[in-house]
Amino acid sequence: MKRVADHLSDVLSAVRPLTPLDVQLLDAHGCVLAEDVVAPWPLPQFDNSAMDGYAVRAEDVRDAADDSPVELPVVADIAAGETQIAAIGPGLAARIMTGAPVPVGADAIVPVEHSDGGEARVRITAGAPVGRHLRKIGEDVQEGDTVLSAGTFLGAAQVGLLAAVGKDRVKVRPRPRVVVISTGSELVEPGLPLALGQITDSNSFTLTAAAREAGAVAYRVAPVADDETTLLSLIEDQLVRADLVVTSGGISAGAYDVVKQVLSDLGTVRFDKVAMQPGMPQGFGTVGDDETPIFTLPGNPVSAFVSFEVFVRPAIRKMLGVSRLHRPSVKAILQATLRSPEGKRQFARARWQPAPDGSYLVTPLGGQASHMVADLAYANALVVVPENVTEIAAGQVVDTVLLERRKG
Ligand code: AMP
Ligand code: MG
Repeated sequence: MKRVADHLSDVLSAVRPLTPLDVQLLDAHGCVLAEDVVAPWPLPQFDNSAMDGYAVRAEDVRDAADDSPVELPVVADIAAGETQIAAIGPGLAARIMTGAPVPVGADAIVPVEHSDGGEARVRITAGAPVGRHLRKIGEDVQEGDTVLSAGTFLGAAQVGLLAAVGKDRVKVRPRPRVVVISTGSELVEPGLPLALGQITDSNSFTLTAAAREAGAVAYRVAPVADDETTLLSLIEDQLVRADLVVTSGGISAGAYDVVKQVLSDLGTVRFDKVAMQPGMPQGFGTVGDDETPIFTLPGNPVSAFVSFEVFVRPAIRKMLGVSRLHRPSVKAILQATLRSPEGKRQFARARWQPAPDGSYLVTPLGGQASHMVADLAYANALVVVPENVTEIAAGQVVDTVLLERRKG
């Protein structure tokens, strides 16, 4: 049997980050930047007001107070979007809105709350030192600064920064397109009636959603029966839109395990027994002229999920070009004794929670068999039991992979 670590390293050495593409800004969201981006202008681009109020000379309002207001003539009214820079002389004020350009001659903004709000003349009831409520040109970004470097993952705030410096297109590594195919003659689309012996296809939903959570663009294909010709032509058809193919089912030792039969004939996919539980049978290789990587995962829903977590997710992350391939892992205190088969690396479904002292507690869930999907959906962690360990007593510290999931 092949070790998990060896299978993972074979997989990771066979996939590589996708070639960079120039894309529209919003299409870059969720991708890794493939170029350094330099600001063509400073941010802010011009001195502007941080408040709705009055642009003044600090000196003129120094002594203003509630009981001794300073009254100034208002000589301009400057809205955000004003393209002409106004000017004020000594002893004068301009009404100004947030984001509007500060007039020449003003060096402070008095918020409207410290005034009577006057339009022709204004009574100011509090002083403002030089620079107060002014946003200075270039205080955020200077012209020529590298605002984001190649390799940065583009989330919402990074996409916004690119827009702020005027980028409408950027060079990124595209998100891998993953095609997910469930195989099995027993599988029916959810929503359709089931005859005895049929079940709904859940793996393709799990795996498509998991691929999206990993950062891929994932396409789900309707389940395909255990028939060699159909399966082969389906895989060939899907290759046009796939950077990666993931199948489930049909790779065990059964009579109708056609995925194994079809792909073994092509000779480019290797089928291994990997020393893990769940998920022992694994297939990985390439298909088609472009040598598209393909994972053939076992059909049991938990095996498919765990195999995805252990092998496919890191591969997708590598194709994305991100640096963090693996989920966060913590040391947690086991809350119940856990048994594990000799010689296999076990990934036990579990729930973790923080303890008041800052440590982590983790409880294995009852239903560990590979078809138990309810406890899988309840799990928020996988406890990893090494190959040479067959039992871990409650109270011991265990490696625990945290599955990112919303609380609740
Ligand atoms: P297989 O790997 O094809 O031998 O399937 C193993 C077990 O997983 C069988 O009980 C299948 O019915 C079940 N199974 C296979 N594919 C799926 C799927 N897409 N959704 C739910 N269960 C599945
Ligand atoms: Mg099957």
